Amino acid sequence: MTPLAGLIAARIRATGPISLAEYMRICLMDGRHGYYATRDPFGRAGDFTTAPEIHQMFGELCGLALAQAWIDQGRPEAIALVEPGPGRGTLMADMLRVMARVPGLTDAAEVALIEASPHLRQVQRERLGDVRHLDTIEDIADKPLFLIGNEFIDALPIRQFQMTPEGWRERMVGLSETGLRIGLGPVVPLDRPGRPGDIVEDCPEGAAFAEAVARRIAAHGGAAILIDYGGWNGYGDTFQALRDHAPEDPLAHPGEADLTAHVDFAALAAAAVRGGAAVSAPVRQGDWLEALGISARVEALARAGDAGAVAAHRRLTHPQEMGHLFKAIAIWPRSAPPVPGFAPLEAHADDA
Ligand code: SAH
Repeated sequence: MTPLAGLIAARIRATGPISLAEYMRICLMDGRHGYYATRDPFGRAGDFTTAPEIHQMFGELCGLALAQAWIDQGRPEAIALVEPGPGRGTLMADMLRVMARVPGLTDAAEVALIEASPHLRQVQRERLGDVRHLDTIEDIADKPLFLIGNEFIDALPIRQFQMTPEGWRERMVGLSETGLRIGLGPVVPLDRPGRPGDIVEDCPEGAAFAEAVARRIAAHGGAAILIDYGGWNGYGDTFQALRDHAPEDPLAHPGEADLTAHVDFAALAAAAVRGGAAVSAPVRQGDWLEALGISARVEALARAGDAGAVAAHRRLTHPQEMGHLFKAIAIWPRSAPPVPGFAPLEAHADDA
């Protein structure tokens, strides 16, 4: 049993079952035993490898996409350049390197990171120097907002609901004789179609975040790109745990496994529309990177002697690697051109 399993069990014994969202929040962010609060899980030695950790060209292309959006909006003089959930700070470091080549851009940009983990804040400072940290999107100054988030939304707590003959009931973490187990809470008024046994998920913080970003971009200009794994109108139980690069039961080692859920891009897009901004159709990561010219970049890197570039290109874009599972979505002002590599959302796409 992990230290956190004991603490969670004691809490459930005292006050009753907790929602999956509460469970996820404790497991990831508990100040002493939480997964992100205590360790650096990224890269080969950690539990998983993210796109920016695979190769610098990922961050470079993200940086160029935001730089082009800045140019397309008339090079505003003072902008906020923001990354939520920056992990090791690699994506921001790679973006800033290419953005420095765009005259005026880095001088205009005030960089800020939204990070909940004190430990990762320290890792990010070591990487990026004395960078500003914010607790929430609400702390950003009122100016054009240029934002990129990679695998941020998938770490936000989700709730799950299961259809029963009585109606939707929330899936809760409670106790059995042997440990933590999933049970069903009281019936809730959820306005979604479903047959008995069906499970649906909701990520309230993810939708609130997308709406807040869109509201700022609609009011002050800017552009946001959110990249994550997931689909359109996600359905079913996607709650998962990853420990030492292997999937396991999310209740097995609280605090010692990364917990995530697939991102429902339809919910993010709907939130962005509520926020008053233009939003893109979701694009597969592989297609987006190709549209931004990753193949040309790989050739140049390989010619210059970067032996890992070709393999990294494959990992980032191939359909059986990250290319199809990961999607990107962009948000921009209705009066501005789309962010490079994205097309406006017109009709609802099929389940992706
Ligand atoms: N973007 C990085 C890391 C992704 S992991 C990469 O691609 O490598 C998720 C990141 O989000 C971690 O830095 C984690 O500490 C942070 N995070 C998770 N929940 C958060 C929250 N509610 N507020 C701020 N940061 C959060």
